[in-house]
Amino acid sequence: MQVAQIQTYPLRAMLKVPFGFSQLYFEQRENLLVEVTCEDGTTGWGECFGPALPARAAVESCVAPLVVGHNVFDTELIWHTVWQRNLDHARHGPLMAALSGVDIALWDLKGKLTGLPLHRLLGGARTEAVPCYATGHYFRRVPEDDLIAVILDEAARYADAGFGALKIKIGKNIAFDLRLIEAVRGKFPDLTLMADANHAYCLNEATRIGRALQEHGYFFFEEPVAPHALEDYALLRSKLDVAIAGGENEQTRFGFRRLVESGALDIAQPDLAFCGGISEGTKIRALANSFGVDVTPHAWGTQIGFAAAVHFHATAPPNPGRLEDELLPLECDHSESTARDRICPEKVTVKDGSAIVPDRPGLGVEVDKEAMAEFVVR
Ligand code: CA
Repeated sequence: MQVAQIQTYPLRAMLKVPFGFSQLYFEQRENLLVEVTCEDGTTGWGECFGPALPARAAVESCVAPLVVGHNVFDTELIWHTVWQRNLDHARHGPLMAALSGVDIALWDLKGKLTGLPLHRLLGGARTEAVPCYATGHYFRRVPEDDLIAVILDEAARYADAGFGALKIKIGKNIAFDLRLIEAVRGKFPDLTLMADANHAYCLNEATRIGRALQEHGYFFFEEPVAPHALEDYALLRSKLDVAIAGGENEQTRFGFRRLVESGALDIAQPDLAFCGGISEGTKIRALANSFGVDVTPHAWGTQIGFAAAVHFHATAPPNPGRLEDELLPLECDHSESTARDRICPEKVTVKDGSAIVPDRPGLGVEVDKEAMAEFVVR
């Protein structure tokens, strides 16, 4: 069964309410979807994380010509063919995001052609429901007292919906961050809390913030320092008990090898739509586990990327495992995204804070092209 065609769909939606994190305020959201069609007309869907237009150019000019004509089931052969042919330019960046999206679509196709859900192709799910944490709590352009109230209200909605774990954004400024860390813990004494700085701090600042997170019983501290500052990551980790997480901007087993070898992380967060796809994600997870590092994917796109992450995470091996063991919670993005909410009529069900692992063939979510049309960038 050969790959006949690969099409790309860059999506863009303006936000009703712009929201910010430690680096900027978003006015719009972008996604890039990839549709791979095989010779009998069956289609598989994938997604690329990061800027949509460079990834689209990479799919169309560097990846698709090498994939069309291959057997759909040859995902390893295809991955290494694209990798080797583009090695001088594709070790990091949009080209690897492009391969990621095509790889996810191929796995969706393998599932649809065999009638098997993705988690079965990956070797079997250890659970029917993946525990999730709600990502949201972004900054708004309002006075800081009001912002804390807005974030606490938002967190209360997730808690009411059954989420037992929440992730806040920090990295606005040190004084605000310390107030927010304390306020969220004060309102939710029993929830699992995490904080994501999106590399906002130098080592000294991260140490101070990390001690506050520790004092208030936060579970992990995500992207405390710059992604290239591996020595700072390792030093910070040696000073703190709170788990250090990161890796959403890293790609391939070779990139993650540097991260885990340097002692930077307790928890690695590859994004399947960026790190090299499902094929590379399984290798990154095996590599990380061999260093004692646990993995929970970063997921910040449409239902396509989320479904891939849910299947993948459901197949995580115990690391190291115990009688009463739980998966690390998986990211479940709740920030505004009309494309995410509208283009897939059948979504991954999230109930009581857990994602029900789809049992339909492939990813188990399908794109409605009519619903998608209003978001496609011409
Ligand atoms: Ca993050």
